[in-house]
Amino acid sequence: MYDDVTVVTGGGGFIGGHLVAHLLDQGRRVRAVDRKPLSEWYQVHADVDNRSLDLREREACETTVEGASTIYNLAADMGGMGFIENNKALCMLSVLINTNLLIAAQQAGVGRYFFSSSACVYAADKQVSIDLTALKEEDAYPAMAEDGYGWEKLFSERMCRHFLEDFGLTTRVARYHNVYGEHGTFEGGREKAPAAICRKIIEAQLAGHRQIDVWGDGEQTRSFMYISDCIEGTSKIMESDITEPINLGSSELVSINQLVDIVEEIAGVRVKRNYLLDAPVGVRGRNSDNTLIRKYLDWEPSVSLKDGLERTYRWIYDEMQSKMSTAH
Ligand code: NAD
Repeated sequence: MYDDVTVVTGGGGFIGGHLVAHLLDQGRRVRAVDRKPLSEWYQVHADVDNRSLDLREREACETTVEGASTIYNLAADMGGMGFIENNKALCMLSVLINTNLLIAAQQAGVGRYFFSSSACVYAADKQVSIDLTALKEEDAYPAMAEDGYGWEKLFSERMCRHFLEDFGLTTRVARYHNVYGEHGTFEGGREKAPAAICRKIIEAQLAGHRQIDVWGDGEQTRSFMYISDCIEGTSKIMESDITEPINLGSSELVSINQLVDIVEEIAGVRVKRNYLLDAPVGVRGRNSDNTLIRKYLDWEPSVSLKDGLERTYRWIYDEMQSKMSTAH
């Protein structure tokens, strides 16, 4: 057992909940912090110092870092395209979390600080077609990030860089590309495409109407990283000497229509697709160039979309079934 504390902010969220589990497996003493009340956390782990605090507040950041050697900052106001296109100010306000947490971490003499950035930092003009070349780290500049959410991430990346250069705080930054898996959001408006498609197909199956809405024309392309790859990559990047922001994503590019095909196959149904051409869809195409992560870590995400979606689909199916049975 380690004596010092490892902090996971956003510990009540999707990735944070999995990261806490991973750190516990390693024998770490963990403090998990999230704005949500404990009853709304996706996973509440025993033997963890779980705290509900709003990390936009400076004092909350100061108490959060007390006695900590390591901070994983995963707290942010975020969601799928439907959320980030309609809540730009809220997304930008996450800058307060990273700012106050960096100041508190530096003052408390924290050893290592991780920031979860996003592929939304990449310049929009490099993502205008479906058969694009994958995004390299340098493609974030000249900057034209996703309005709101992406700009906050890009600014916070730079703040991590300057805290390293000017104050000697060891910071690590990963640019996550769409992460999916169990114990995440699949309804309510913040869900992302893989969970949303699973839920819609399950609903169509259970209701017997066999049709779903698809946002956009379904030809937009993305890559999706399964949660276990995200956690493994996060740990590796945190422990590495990589001082620049680095892609952490799958390079298995699919269109949203192909994503629907895979979920249909898992579910064993075919559904009619109603394309909502006015729905928020984000950039036309986006993939992760993994040259740098392979070079530094001799590793990259490897769980296939089919395998990851099988597990995710089963979990969402069970959740929906148990909600339905408690409702009756
Ligand atoms: P999530 O929404 O499930 O988790 C984020 C958590 O942060 C939530 O539980 C939320 O309550 C908490 N939070 C928000 N504001 C807070 C505040 N002021 N104080 C304390 N807690 C606060 O999202 P996630 O998918 O687990 O994402 C984790 C991190 O990874 C985020 O920073 C996100 O921007 C980043 N990211 C995620 C993805 C993805 O595909 N999931 C992609 C790129 C980047």
